[in-house]
Amino acid sequence: QTPIERKPDWIKTRLKTGPQYRELTRLVKSEGLHTVCQEAGCPNIYECWEDREATFLIGGDQCTRRCDFCQIDTGRPAALDRDEPRRVAESVASMGLKYATVTGVARDDLEDGGAWLYAETVRQIHAAVDGCGVELLIPDFNADPAQLSEVFGSRPEVLAHNVETVPRIFKRIRPGFRYERSLDVITRARADGLVTKSNLILGMGETREEVSQALRDLHDAGCELITITQYLRPSPRHHPVERWVKPEEFVELSAEAESIGFAGVMSGPLVRSSYRAGRLYQQAVAA
Ligand code: SF4
Ligand code: SF4
Repeated sequence: QTPIERKPDWIKTRLKTGPQYRELTRLVKSEGLHTVCQEAGCPNIYECWEDREATFLIGGDQCTRRCDFCQIDTGRPAALDRDEPRRVAESVASMGLKYATVTGVARDDLEDGGAWLYAETVRQIHAAVDGCGVELLIPDFNADPAQLSEVFGSRPEVLAHNVETVPRIFKRIRPGFRYERSLDVITRARADGLVTKSNLILGMGETREEVSQALRDLHDAGCELITITQYLRPSPRHHPVERWVKPEEFVELSAEAESIGFAGVMSGPLVRSSYRAGRLYQQAVAA
């Protein structure tokens, strides 16, 4: 391990469990449910679960794209599982969630890019759980109008699409995506009347000025909510950590994003794009 790989103190988490967290943990175990929160060992689980918010992954465990920060395997996905939306909705219902984030792999192997799968999961959750907000974090569907329209038509409370990094290093970090195309997906979602959200991961080689520019680009594209996070390297095969952003800089960036005009911001070393997502959505609604 090079010194840069050593995590600074502010990356360590506070362990504080509450009654909702304990109840959800019991339920998930007894019902054999799967959440990203537990399976990715997310440090925020005590906070999110206390608010009855959790994240689910759809589309399988093999992605057709290869992003240099992502721990999901690249490979040939299994056949489309048409029962998955129902099972996710059932999990959301049995956990009694108030807000569910649904994300998944890119399915370029499918004719519709997985649009039906993403849309159907939102529809099933809305049908199964009265009042549960759904945040749908999507790949770009190659900005295909028909696929996006199917996805947007499922009316998630928040439509999230993450640019993750800045234009200069974008191609190296996300070879299957394009910066402008990702901005375009956000613009279209907003034009369709959805609340929009994105994420920037810091520590992959971007400069401070590039982060400011990306924030302005996102806001200009119609993005309303933003999360700003620290990159953690999943394994030595992934992109190295170029820097550990200090907590003060995250605070500055939060103020900067607010002054640019974002309706809600979550910025911090341990923030994930789905961190306290329901709360952030409420800020957008109130704005
Ligand atoms: Fe990971 Fe999403 Fe990139 Fe696939 S498209 S490698 S799931 S970040
Ligand atoms: Fe789950 Fe996301 Fe919260 Fe982590 S940040 S606990 S993955 S909802």
